[in-house]
Amino acid sequence: MHKLCQPLFGSYGKEALKMSGRSKRIAFFEFGDCGGCELAVIENSKALDLLGKVDIAYWLLLGKTGEGPYDITFVEGVVASEHDIDALKRIREKSGILVALGSDACVSGIPGLRRFANKDKVEGVYGNVELEHKPIEGIGPLDHFVKVDYVLRGCPVNGDQFSRLLELLVEGKQVEQGEKSFDYSKPRFGENAGRAIVLDNEKCILCERCVEVCNGITSALSIADRGINTLITPPFRMGIDGSTCISCGQCTVYCPVSALCEKDSIAEVNRMVSSGRPVDAVVEVETAVSIGEFFGLNERCHGLLVDALKRIGFRNVYLSRSKSRAKFLDPRPVGRFPAIIPCCYSAKKFVETYYPRLRQSISQPPKPSFKADVWIGPCTGRKIDSEMVVLTTREVSRMIRDYLTTKYIEFNEFDDVNFDDVELREPEIVGRVIAEGAFEIRQVLDKAMRGELQGAVVELWACPKGCISGGGQYKASEEILARRKEWIDGMGSALWRTRWWARSA
Ligand code: SF4
Ligand code: SF4
Repeated sequence: MHKLCQPLFGSYGKEALKMSGRSKRIAFFEFGDCGGCELAVIENSKALDLLGKVDIAYWLLLGKTGEGPYDITFVEGVVASEHDIDALKRIREKSGILVALGSDACVSGIPGLRRFANKDKVEGVYGNVELEHKPIEGIGPLDHFVKVDYVLRGCPVNGDQFSRLLELLVEGKQVEQGEKSFDYSKPRFGENAGRAIVLDNEKCILCERCVEVCNGITSALSIADRGINTLITPPFRMGIDGSTCISCGQCTVYCPVSALCEKDSIAEVNRMVSSGRPVDAVVEVETAVSIGEFFGLNERCHGLLVDALKRIGFRNVYLSRSKSRAKFLDPRPVGRFPAIIPCCYSAKKFVETYYPRLRQSISQPPKPSFKADVWIGPCTGRKIDSEMVVLTTREVSRMIRDYLTTKYIEFNEFDDVNFDDVELREPEIVGRVIAEGAFEIRQVLDKAMRGELQGAVVELWACPKGCISGGGQYKASEEILARRKEWIDGMGSALWRTRWWARSA
C-alpha cells in the first residue's frame, strides 16, 4: 500500500482490505440533508454498474438494512444532534473506509447555514418547539466528529468522481488523497467584495456550480486549498475586480445559497425614496417581463410593477429597451478590424482583457436614454459604469416583497398602472454582427482578429441569449426564456413610443 494511504485506514480497515474472493460490503448512510448525492449516484450509469457488482449491505433507499461490518461506507449529510453524533460514531466503528459524500458531509453545507439564522425570527415562525433530538450548537462536517478517510465534494457529488473512487476502493488499489490531514476549526473567510459582485465564502457550500458556469466565460473562479480550508476564489485569492471577472453575474444566477450575489443597493435606494426628494426610476423591459416570476404569476404584469414602485415612493417610472440603444450608435470601422459596440460593461471588459489589440476598435457601451435616479434592470455589470444607482431584477423583487410583507398584501393586489414614458423601439439595423454570451463573443472576436470582419459593425452582449438571461435575473429554463422574449416582442407599438427624443427635444 502506498505510504500516503496508510494513515487513512483504521485497524479494521486493514483487515477489511485483506478480504479477497468476496464482494466488498458497501453501506450508505444519510444524516440531515436532501438526499441529492445518493440520487446523483444512482443516476450515473457507471456507478450503477459498479454497485451491481458489490454487496450493498445497508442503504435505506434500496430497503437494505444489513448489519456491519462494512468495507466501505458512504455517509451523506450533517450531524445535527447528540443522537446523530452517537450514530455516526457507531457507523465509524463498523466501517473499514468512511467516505464523506457531498458538501453537507464535507463542509456542513446547507444545514450548516443555520449559523446565520436569526433565532428570534425562527422562533417567531415555528414557535418554541420541543424537538425529539436536541440540536447541537456547533454543527460541522463529519470529520469534526470522527475520522474521515476520503471526501467527495459537490452539491450534489459528481457521479463520475464517485464511480472512480468506488472502483479504486473496491479493487483495493492505492488511492492518493491530496490532503494528508485536516484542520478541525474552520477559518473565517470574510467577503471578497467587488463593485458589482460579492463573494461571501462564509455562506459557500462548495457546490462548485459557479466554477462550472464561469469556466465557460472567463475562468475567474476556482477552488483553492484543501479540507476545511477549501474555498472558492479568483486565482491567488485576488479581489474579484482585480481578476479576469467581467461582473456578468452569471455565477450569481446559479449560486444556490447567495454566497455569490450582486452588490446590494436596496438600502441606498430605500434611503433615497424615504428622504422625501423626488426619485425617478427607469425600468428595463427584461425586468418588466420577468418580475411576476418571483411572485408566482405566470402572466405579463409590468403594470403591477409600476404601481408597486410608485407605492414604494418613486415619482416617475419609465420603460426602456436596451436593444434599442445600440442602434443609436453608428461607429466607423477602422483598418482591418470591425467597429465593435460592447453593449454593456461586461462585454467591454471582456474585449479589453482577452483581445487587447481590438481596444482601438471599441466604442463606449450605449447609455440609457432616460435620465433618472435609479436604473432597474437585468444586469449586474451596470453597477460599475452607471451614473444611476442600479437595482437588479432580483433586488427590486426583494424590495417589493419587503413592502408587501409590511402591508400584508399580495403582489397581484397592485393596480395596473401605465409607465410615465416609454422609449422608442428602434428597428433592427440589418447587417450588424451580433454575439451574445462569451462563447459567441469569442467566435466573433477570433474572426475579427483574423481580419474576416473588416468593415463590419459588431454588437457584443455579455450574457448568453442577451439581457433576458442577464446576471441580475432569476434562473430560467428555455421555456421561461422563450416566454420572456415573446412578451417583450408582444409589447408592440402600442407601448413603445414612436419618437421619444422628439418630445425631449
Ligand atoms: S461575474 Fe461572470 S465572470 Fe465574474 S466570476 Fe461570475 S460568472 Fe465569472
Ligand atoms: S459560491 Fe455558491 S455556487 Fe459557488 S461553490 Fe459556493 S455555494 Fe456553490
